[in-house]
Amino acid sequence: PVQLNESANAALDREKTSAADSAVLHRHLDASFLSLAKGEGSYLVLEDGRKIFDGSGGAAVGCIGWGNQRVAEAVTRQILDVPYCPTIFYTTKAQEDLCRTLVETSNGHMARAYIVNSGSEAMEAAVKLARQYYLELDPPQPQRAQFISRKQSYHGITLGALAIGGHAARRAKFEPMLMKNVTQVSPCFEYRGKTPGESDEAYVERLTKELDDEFQRVGPDTVCAFVAEPVVGAALGCVPAVPGYFKAVRAVCENYGALLILDEVMCGMGRTGTLHAWEQEGVAPDIQTIGKGLGGGYQSIAGVLAGHRVVDTLAKGSSVFVHGHTYQGHPAGCAAALEVQKIIQEEGLLNNVQELAPILSNGLVEAVGGHPNVGNIRGRGFFWGIEFVADKETATPFPPEDHVAMDICEFALTKDYGVGVYPGGGSVDGIRGDHIIISPPYNVSRDDIQRPMAVGLSGGRAAADEEARAEVD
Ligand code: PMP
Repeated sequence: PVQLNESANAALDREKTSAADSAVLHRHLDASFLSLAKGEGSYLVLEDGRKIFDGSGGAAVGCIGWGNQRVAEAVTRQILDVPYCPTIFYTTKAQEDLCRTLVETSNGHMARAYIVNSGSEAMEAAVKLARQYYLELDPPQPQRAQFISRKQSYHGITLGALAIGGHAARRAKFEPMLMKNVTQVSPCFEYRGKTPGESDEAYVERLTKELDDEFQRVGPDTVCAFVAEPVVGAALGCVPAVPGYFKAVRAVCENYGALLILDEVMCGMGRTGTLHAWEQEGVAPDIQTIGKGLGGGYQSIAGVLAGHRVVDTLAKGSSVFVHGHTYQGHPAGCAAALEVQKIIQEEGLLNNVQELAPILSNGLVEAVGGHPNVGNIRGRGFFWGIEFVADKETATPFPPEDHVAMDICEFALTKDYGVGVYPGGGSVDGIRGDHIIISPPYNVSRDDIQRPMAVGLSGGRAAADEEARAEVD
């Protein structure tokens, strides 16, 4: 179904740096890579000068575009002043200001922020914080060590975070090494989970019952937290929940005295049009993780936001969070994130996301919605996923070994189009949905946002027309 133009493909291969000569332990040891020279606004520039529209900000990381002078200056200043801060004795203005900003922009729900270097680290810290909360409660609840998360989810690659996630393909090889105190329920996934004719209310009720049953099965007083992404990113490809789902699962958590951890590493910090994706769900988490959009790719930074209940309990208890990293609260990361967040606020970039989101979503539907291999288009704000299927009627996925999502990304990257989008494929219970993610920077122009659609129109329309012609023939 995805016919890569032979010459375009060959051209792409020639541009790549061969991994055979590389000293890097790349994820794919035998793959070759395009060599990046520069970033300029919404574009990436290769060593040979070719420009690529950054339609996904990498994995939904870039949010203010590239080459930002203000961020570069803030980081340089910080590195010259204080490049490293041993957080056991010291703090920095950058860390204090960033955490204050994060707390102040949480609509009163969050009390403190904890700064780490990656989304996986943030998730590790979040689950330990949840456990420690119950140990410090008065009276303590040391029996709580269980977590419930969702199938087809991704919460990070380190052992703890991997164990929390339900990404079967990424877990498989390490299964015997993963902690056993995690069980999973179905995600809220309208396209594949909702039965024909089922109302949103009935679907939510069914999923809520499954979660409630799971609490009962593992023992409600043993559960620390239910963990979920408000809009599922890497595992499913930009899947928001149906209305009412998060309020309903919040109520189940409340009922059993468990915490709600929301992982906004990918969907947070403005990606869906509000600073936090949970704002659109009418619930607030007890603990939240943030990452990619926090520093917009300018530094390696992520964080954990802790609600009042958690912070107050620790403050009244041991007042020590038994966790820490050499590079936590890294000053350069904090300085970069602070500047990125100031730019988002001062330049009204969330308004831009909200204003242009319909152009993106309607444009994608128009460009490829009719394609016989496009099963579903879903998302929110500047976070859109397209799921590809072998058979539209039955929503049958392509075989994983066909690497359809990867091929489509390569196709978009070729000289003819020069558009970067992000591939993915959730895998559980034998179902793998190939998808691509389109997540442009928040300050993308009205013209540039059309670029992913241009790829779709050429590939998508042509295939649809061909199919129509075949039917006529
Ligand atoms: N949680 C979510 C929802 C993610 O999307 C990711 C990364 N894709 C992570 C956690 C892990 O973040 P990192 O790759 O920065 O460790």
